[in-house]
Amino acid sequence: MKVTAYSNNLFQLTRLGFVNCYLVREDDGFTLIDTGMSGQAQQIIQAAQKLGLPIVRIVLTHAHVDHVGSLDALHAALPNAQIAISERDARFLSGDKSLDPSEPQVPLRGGYPVCTTKPTLLLHEGDRIGSLEVLATPGHTPGHLAFLDTRDRAVIVGDAFQTLGGVAVSGTLKWRFPLPAMATWHKGLALESARKLLAREPSVLAVGHGRMLENPQAAMERAIRVMEQSLAKEERKQSHVA
Ligand SMILES: [Zn+2]
Repeated sequence: MKVTAYSNNLFQLTRLGFVNCYLVREDDGFTLIDTGMSGQAQQIIQAAQKLGLPIVRIVLTHAHVDHVGSLDALHAALPNAQIAISERDARFLSGDKSLDPSEPQVPLRGGYPVCTTKPTLLLHEGDRIGSLEVLATPGHTPGHLAFLDTRDRAVIVGDAFQTLGGVAVSGTLKWRFPLPAMATWHKGLALESARKLLAREPSVLAVGHGRMLENPQAAMERAIRVMEQSLAKEERKQSHVA
C-alpha cells in the first residue's frame, strides 16, 4: 500500500494504483476516510501505526464497494472506532436500496454491498467531525459526502471528482478509467455538487481514484465545463427523440 503525504495532516493510501483512502490527523488520532476494497484492513491499520497514531474514526464518503469493502474487517479490528456515513447512504449498508419519492427515479449504479457494521454517527450537510466540515455532494450516490478540512481547505471528495485518466466530474466518462462514471447515479446532481465543491475554494483535491491535485480550482472549472457541455448535448439528443 503506497502512502503519500500531502501535509502533516493528510495522507493518501493507495492500493493497486487506483483505489484511495485517506488518513486525516486529529489531536486524538487518525480519521480514516473510506476503507478501500475488501482485504485492505491490515494494511490500512499498519499504515496508521507507522505514522504513529491509532485510527479513532472511520468516515465514509459513500457506500460503494471500493469505499466500504474493508469496513467490516476494520470494525472487527478497531471496535472502539466511531463509524460515520451520511444518513442517506447508511441505508445502502443495511441492504435497503430503495429511492425516496423526492429523489430522481433513476436506477442506482455500481456495487452497494451489505455490511454487518452499523454506523455510530449519521452525517448531514454542515456537520463537523473533528476538523472536517461535512459537505453533502449527492450525484455519484444519493447520499455522497465530501469533507473539507477547516485547517487548510484540503477537500476529500470521494468520487465526486476523479483525477485518474484526467480530472473529471463524477459521471463524465474517462476512457482510461471509466469506473466512477459507470457507477454514477445522477449526473445533473453530480454537476451541482461539483460546482458546490469548487465554490469552497479548495487548496487540494483528494479523490477516491487518482492522485491528489494541489491548487485544483482551474482544473475543476474545466472539468465542470466539460460536464455541462456533455449534459447539454444529452438533453438536445433527448429532445430530438421526444
Ligand atoms: Zn463510487
